[in-house]
Amino acid sequence: MDFQPLLAVPEQSVGKPLWFIFQGSHLLVNNAGESIKLPDDKTLELFANFILRRHVIGQIEGRICYGIEVSTEALPPPGHSYVGLRSLFGRADDSLLSLAGRTFQIIDWDRTHVYCGRCGTPTMLHSHERARICPSCKLIVYPRIAPVVMGLIIRGQELLLARSPQFAPNVYSAIAGYCEPGENLEVALKREIHEEVGVEVGNLQYFRSQSWPFPHSLMVAFTCHYQSGTLVLQPGEIEDARWFSMNDLPLLPHPVSIARQLIDATLVLMNSRHHALH
Ligand SMILES: [Zn+2]
Repeated sequence: MDFQPLLAVPEQSVGKPLWFIFQGSHLLVNNAGESIKLPDDKTLELFANFILRRHVIGQIEGRICYGIEVSTEALPPPGHSYVGLRSLFGRADDSLLSLAGRTFQIIDWDRTHVYCGRCGTPTMLHSHERARICPSCKLIVYPRIAPVVMGLIIRGQELLLARSPQFAPNVYSAIAGYCEPGENLEVALKREIHEEVGVEVGNLQYFRSQSWPFPHSLMVAFTCHYQSGTLVLQPGEIEDARWFSMNDLPLLPHPVSIARQLIDATLVLMNSRHHALH
């Protein structure tokens, strides 16, 4: 995907615009056909009186992507519905999902920074940055991105997987948590693992990262190796955690998630090492 972020429409833009229309956290999609599509220009015309905010997000293959928030009065036209982004996993293609996530984060940031957090004055959009500025005290606020560290703990031929109470029934995943101010990713991951399951880890290896728009996380995934300690689960955060043999795994998160990609890639690696040894 060759996406270019933009704040305004360039002079020569080609192709039909892409309309990402949100009502709250739900995206309007045309799901009348087999594949999920974005609504067309006609839908936008119908919604003219219900638009709360409108942003140019960027362009892809010459098509301008707009992020639009509409009020609750904007009823979906026939063949359309408002859907949560998670419900598009596996149904919409990756670039649509990624653009929808990006757009949602900008709209959500914009609507939650209408007033200055320092002096309470209504803020304005910055003229040449993706930011809002307070005309009174000049405070500038940028879209918020919260880094989340994720660690898959390896011990021999086993993986430590845990369940948070918010997970779908029976699903287990890697340990994850937000970075705190002043932490680097490595420190945050070791702290988070110690807090949630009580063990110490080492040999952290960066895997990959993923923007996760629920509502504005950046997931940064690592593998690491068990060093010491016994499992002590953090009440309220971890419902269950166990060492699973790589041949006997529980239900895992959705393939779209980096957690699943991390687990799958690690299994491939463990399998190849296992075979090399035997
Ligand atoms: Zn202010």
